[in-house]
Amino acid sequence: MAKMFIAGEWMESESGQVTEIRNPATGELVDTVPKGTEKDAQKAIDAAAEAYPKWSETSPEERAKVLDKAVDLINEKKQDLAVLLTKEQGKPVSESVREIDHFLHGMKFYAGLATKVRGAQVPLPEKGVYGMVLKQSIGVCGAIVPWNFPITLMGTKVGPALIAGNTVVVKPASTTPLTTLQCVEMIHRAGLPEGVLNIVTGPGSVVGEELLRNPKVRRIAFTGETKTGKHVMEIASQGIKRVTLELGGSDPMIVCDDANMKRALTGASVGRFYNCGQACLAIKRLYLFESIADEFIEQLKGKVQRLKLGNGLNEDTRVGPLHMEFQRKEVEEQVEDAKKKGAKVLIGGERPTGDEFDKGFFYLPTLLTDVPDSGRIVQEECFGPVLPIFRVKDLDEAIEKANSSSYGLGASIWTQNLARAHQAAERLQAGNVWINSLHIGYDELPFGGIKESGIGREHGPEALEYYLEPKGVVVATG
Ligand code: NDP
Repeated sequence: MAKMFIAGEWMESESGQVTEIRNPATGELVDTVPKGTEKDAQKAIDAAAEAYPKWSETSPEERAKVLDKAVDLINEKKQDLAVLLTKEQGKPVSESVREIDHFLHGMKFYAGLATKVRGAQVPLPEKGVYGMVLKQSIGVCGAIVPWNFPITLMGTKVGPALIAGNTVVVKPASTTPLTTLQCVEMIHRAGLPEGVLNIVTGPGSVVGEELLRNPKVRRIAFTGETKTGKHVMEIASQGIKRVTLELGGSDPMIVCDDANMKRALTGASVGRFYNCGQACLAIKRLYLFESIADEFIEQLKGKVQRLKLGNGLNEDTRVGPLHMEFQRKEVEEQVEDAKKKGAKVLIGGERPTGDEFDKGFFYLPTLLTDVPDSGRIVQEECFGPVLPIFRVKDLDEAIEKANSSSYGLGASIWTQNLARAHQAAERLQAGNVWINSLHIGYDELPFGGIKESGIGREHGPEALEYYLEPKGVVVATG
């Protein structure tokens, strides 16, 4: 049985209860973890609060050293961690390795920023008086993480939080705690004092809720569904906590008639089917200029048909299972709704058959055309391997449709025309725009959504600012 990590020690839940973690491809038991309670969460929060004053006074170099060492420790175990991540999450091992690499890159990025935090000296109107801006840590941070990229999304919170001098309690998703537990313990072992970094496993409605309500937690970094995000914001507002929300998306991809077809085809296929379509920044609506639509669709069909579906532990697997049965049902219902409203299924649109798929949550990579704008798959986030394709007459229509969503996370434009690309980058309502590029979240660039896709940013030096409090100081020299 895996245990929680609180105040520098592995612990069971005070309830004595456990949660089973099962492989989404086979249903096999991977391990069990403690089913944490409010009291367990309080223990972790108390430990983080106790550790905070000392940790906040450490030098930026010391903090950076810990993160750098953690990167080395985790890197040594990367292959084993990747297999564990695949077992609990379902993604192909190659994607698990990439996820851990991305996490390590992010941790290194923040280690590098530790000594670059700057305040300011500000001239003031009165003679002999000037201002200073100090950048100070906030306190105990709660990091609430979803199951689709459990390791990178833990790192995007823990990295900047620790570097800024805060202490942290991590709450992983109930279904993907195992690799995170290992990584958190290794970060601790790299040289953190006890209580600086803690992890509590257990239901969001209990452990997560305690993080939102406990007055000792001053900052909440949440990634998850928009619906949960609204609740998080509401509860955290009672304690006037600083909150960042990285929520759902319905990213549009626009392919113009002058696009490099080969690259755009890869963009659409990888962009939609990576991690079985379970990415916030996955391409969830494809808008093709009419004149290239037939050829593009034909070639995309061929590409998607070649994607090998299977257990993520098999080396040749390109698309694994969905993560949960509940979620597969949701995707099926969205496809059925689209079909009822007139959509055509080009490929997929059902579960695969055969022994190797029977016990997992598999769904065939699917392409849909003729989906009406009223379809649930257009209006809602589709968190699975289904791509609805639309034809548009020009850029204006494409942008209008792209912007018609309540989400505003990412969007891409594929064109060789610089003016079109710039116009789209300015007019698309999204926190991130890619021009002729895969939808990738780079550690160096701020990432986050507008509209119902979130508030605040992760990645980049910008994210560090969300873990620092600027304090104004007035100095009268006369
Ligand atoms: P959920 O909102 O269901 O869960 C996210 C986390 O919140 C989990 O750890 C969950 O715990 C916890 N949680 C649930 N209820 C509460 C509560 N009442 N109080 C506090 N915490 C709670 O999201 P999913 O795990 O289903 O993740 C998928 C979603 O995340 C998608 O919508 C996706 O688009 C979005 N996402 C956004 C990203 C972005 O950067 N914008 C990046 C990646 C994903 P438990 O598991 O125990 O329920």
